[in-house]
Amino acid sequence: ARQFFVGGNFKMNGSKESIQTIVKNLNSASLPSNVEVVIAPPAPYLFWASEHNKQSTVEISAQNCFDKASGAYTGEISAVSLKDLGIPWVILGHSERRTIFKETDELIASKTKFALDSGLKVILCIGETLEEKKAGKTLEVCKRQLKAVTDVVSDWTNIVIAYEPVWAIGTGLAATAEDAQEIHKDIREYLSTVIGSQSESVRILYGGSVSGKNAKDFKDKTDVDGFLVGGASLKPEFVDIIKSRE
Ligand code: 13P
Repeated sequence: ARQFFVGGNFKMNGSKESIQTIVKNLNSASLPSNVEVVIAPPAPYLFWASEHNKQSTVEISAQNCFDKASGAYTGEISAVSLKDLGIPWVILGHSERRTIFKETDELIASKTKFALDSGLKVILCIGETLEEKKAGKTLEVCKRQLKAVTDVVSDWTNIVIAYEPVWAIGTGLAATAEDAQEIHKDIREYLSTVIGSQSESVRILYGGSVSGKNAKDFKDKTDVDGFLVGGASLKPEFVDIIKSRE
């Protein structure tokens, strides 16, 4: 069975004070022992969060890193530095990186490979835009984004996929649990044709306007192995999402 996974992507939000509050709230919450939780604060707060997190089921993630260990790459984050600081996870391929920062499928694949080779675990984000959805290209886009990675990575043990349709991110319009289940199943089927039976153990998260309210709707969806949460991960309802399978 795939372990239920809840990620919190803070994006470029938070202050010393607010991130302290979130970590303290998580520390004092009674969290289910069978749910893997990963929080991704902005880079300047990563080390602090890592040092102050007291929950054994909570780990810390960066929101991005580069595909080189070191060198003249002003402003970039090295996977090797993250590893050095004890940050075990990194989010790669988020739609905001793809659209605002023009990251290509190939760059994201290269970053994924480099992060894995550096000993990090990767939350790999994929998903279609509204236009692509309207054109019936959802699966095609997901396959293309995944193929770039399967072309360079053969061991998927340390990858968690986050299916995040761009139209659902930050809009309050989450995909229905039924639609999410269907696309997740298709994604897993596609993966199985490329990486074989490994695909059975790869977790596929849903992301896009997940809240304390709607998280329970996905409860019986067998291919929805958890969530990647944006806005709601900054609020107390994040704990309700973590507990949504209880
Ligand atoms: P929201 O939960 O705010 O829609 O964001 C989802 C997301 O992009 C998580 O990576």
